[in-house]
Amino acid sequence: MYWKEKKINEFTSDEWEALCDGCGKCCLLKLEDPDTMEVAYTACACSLLDIEKVTCKQYSSRFLVVPECLKIKPENIMDLNYLPNTCAYKLIAQGKDLPDWHHLNCGNKELVHNLGKSVRDWCVPIENVPEEDWVDLIIEIED
Ligand code: SF4
Ligand code: SF4
Repeated sequence: MYWKEKKINEFTSDEWEALCDGCGKCCLLKLEDPDTMEVAYTACACSLLDIEKVTCKQYSSRFLVVPECLKIKPENIMDLNYLPNTCAYKLIAQGKDLPDWHHLNCGNKELVHNLGKSVRDWCVPIENVPEEDWVDLIIEIED
């Protein structure tokens, strides 16, 4: 239970990577209201998201393909307001515990999907949605 015993800047890179619960919510297109600066999630998935596996198809080289993909680090986690409140990085940075369904607690990486906590069953490839329709796919992200 290293995530309870260490500070986030003490995690090894493997420990940091293992924190991700695999929900895929951060890989959804987000739209920012230019007047209010409020960020809304859409159901459109990044072109690199493998929707069946809910993993990035080119994780190690993703920034070359999707420059706007942001690397989550201990140094920026508190500034990434758009992340869902369920995000494991956000929870740990806020001093909270991981949920029981998190794979580090339950040992099962499928549970996040089986419990409907991931985007697997409802997100749509962004390639399938014309830009003028993105706004129609604005969704509320479940916390
Ligand atoms: S929202 Fe957080 S926990 Fe979910 S996939 Fe993104 S980084 Fe991982
Ligand atoms: S490039 Fe990969 S990690 Fe980044 S948003 Fe797209 S699918 Fe997610």
